[in-house]
Amino acid sequence: MRLEKLRAAVVRVGKDLVPTGMVLGTWGNVSAREGDVVAITPSGLPYDELTPADIILVDLQGNLVEGKWRPSTELHLHLTLYRRRSDLNAVVHTHSVASMALAASRHPLPPCTEEQAQILGGEVPVAAYAPPGTPELAQAAAAALGEGKAVLLAHHGLVGVGATLDEAWLVVQVVEKSAQIYLWSCLLGGPVPLAPEEVRSLRERFLRDYGQRRS
Ligand code: 13P
Ligand code: ZN
Repeated sequence: MRLEKLRAAVVRVGKDLVPTGMVLGTWGNVSAREGDVVAITPSGLPYDELTPADIILVDLQGNLVEGKWRPSTELHLHLTLYRRRSDLNAVVHTHSVASMALAASRHPLPPCTEEQAQILGGEVPVAAYAPPGTPELAQAAAAALGEGKAVLLAHHGLVGVGATLDEAWLVVQVVEKSAQIYLWSCLLGGPVPLAPEEVRSLRERFLRDYGQRRS
């Protein structure tokens, strides 16, 4: 993807954050990578006013490639994940309510639905607490994420990752929906986690077989 397309794709996801309830105000952030260049949302600007020219381009060390604004304060977090995981090309950070309820309780999200098993491949862990925007938060998030798709930031929010921006966006939506289901299930006597072998089998079948396949 060319860099202008990458910037436009970041804007598109950024504009969906507030209307979908994934973010209130200017919190949260979105990035996508093309090779050694990362396109990331600016810090503290209203999403509904963003245009592709507002998206900052940096290299994987955080050096400015192009852009007129200060990048997101979570730049460390995004870059740390890209440097650790060559399979990642997108990172979405949200402050969505049900995920934050779990994060505020430092409570991981176990896989209780086929949807979570298929899209996320298992539990969503909680990273150790560190203040927002710090290298310590970036390290804690990367350590807890491991090879996974999502991580809760203690007392803060949610981070989802993907090979594409569409995947990272789907990941955060599925985590938020799963967190809501988990909390509702608590009212019904307690959610029942799927057995680990069932989670593995659901994920494998999804990767192998879901959707339209070319014969
Ligand atoms: P930015 O507006 O700097 O991206 O920060 C929002 C946020 O969520 C910090 O964790
Ligand atoms: Zn945040």
